[in-house]
Amino acid sequence: MIILDGKKLNKSIAGDLREAISAFPSKPKLVIIQIGDNPASNIYIARKQQYAEEIGATAIVKKFDEAITEREIISEINSLNQSDDVNGIIVQLPIPKNLSISNIIDSIAPEKDVDGLSSKNIYKLIRNEESFVPATALGIGTLLRENGITVEGKNVVVIGRSLLVGKSTAFHLMNLGATVTICHSKTKNIIEHTRRADVIVVAVGKPGLINDDYISEKQVIVDVGINMVDGKVCGDTHIIDQSKLKAISPVPGGVGPMTVASLFQNLVTAYQMQEKQNKV
Ligand code: NAD
Repeated sequence: MIILDGKKLNKSIAGDLREAISAFPSKPKLVIIQIGDNPASNIYIARKQQYAEEIGATAIVKKFDEAITEREIISEINSLNQSDDVNGIIVQLPIPKNLSISNIIDSIAPEKDVDGLSSKNIYKLIRNEESFVPATALGIGTLLRENGITVEGKNVVVIGRSLLVGKSTAFHLMNLGATVTICHSKTKNIIEHTRRADVIVVAVGKPGLINDDYISEKQVIVDVGINMVDGKVCGDTHIIDQSKLKAISPVPGGVGPMTVASLFQNLVTAYQMQEKQNKV
């Protein structure tokens, strides 16, 4: 049984990125927009800043009060779009409910949208054109590939249909050749789908949703969920007999670190594309 170790892969990607960046004339720069003071967001942002430092990039946080208007945020993003020394812009989710995620994210210039969540980049993902693949989806694809698991021709079941994780992962894996089924809160008998799958990706946010009853022999499970139970972080799976699995990603230490590494792979790609553009 393979443990899909995202922590280890995160480190080896950091090494590759550090080497690439050391040859650049300047440091790639990411701006993280944070609205409000969500405690989980503070942790995720700190991890991104730490990774940036590790690879020799810059990640700065622009933090705004919850009372900021959509117009003010968009005007801030517009000036970051114009700024030559900013290579990537992301909005840390969630944002306050009175603000429109799509209006705000769509105001990011597509070539700086390193989270890949703007309409233009999502449309490219759906069309299987080159684009910034959202970090969690990209990280899942890399985690599988680097562990020798190909999805081409395989049956993949993705549980969860958010744009951020479920849908973008489903499209990315489909683009890699998988046959994908998406299950969600309205799906009846999820068990029937999961038992038939070669690969199960679960991204719901419900601890223990996928247990031994949901699985069959030699499957690969990618657990995206992040939950707190009794002060401990756990995923969406609780499999007692893991011996019959082919592979599983742990929580913590699986998809989470891959999401961070993949974001910075996108940032480095954005930097290289912008450098090329500036030289033309
Ligand atoms: P979300 O709340 O936007 O979406 C959850 C999805 O789960 C929905 O599409 C819903 O239809 C589905 N769902 C809810 N109850 C269900 C049920 N009983 N059976 C089947 N489907 C059900 O959440 P999200 O942003 O997509 O995140 C999902 C989980 O992944 C969360 O735990 C989040 O913390 C985690 N997450 C992890 C990473 C990472 O890097 N590891 C990144 C983003 C999100």
